Amino acid sequence: MSVTVFSQLDKSLHEHLDTLVRLAATGDDETATELARSELPRVVAALRALLDEHTPDEHGRCPTCRTRRLSRRLPAPCRAYLGAQLAMTVAAESPGRRKHVRSVV
Ligand SMILES: [Zn+2]
Repeated sequence: MSVTVFSQLDKSLHEHLDTLVRLAATGDDETATELARSELPRVVAALRALLDEHTPDEHGRCPTCRTRRLSRRLPAPCRAYLGAQLAMTVAAESPGRRKHVRSVV
């Protein structure tokens, strides 16, 4: 199986995110503080960029996804927006129950 540039980028991004989660969970207080100051703004920026692109318009439709062929049938807001909102909401309500979050999404 050939490894594309994109799949390598995707893999390294996921590895980076896994590292952040692991350090936040198991690192000492100094590490956790450092992590929050250096990495949290980047993670928030990434999430905001995603949400900006998929924020529903005044009709409740996603301006990014509605241009795709089958998107007219999908309920709005789009899955990307709902998935991000749900992950944030569920994660905030039940910290430490990551498996539950995954099974919901
Ligand atoms: Zn969308």
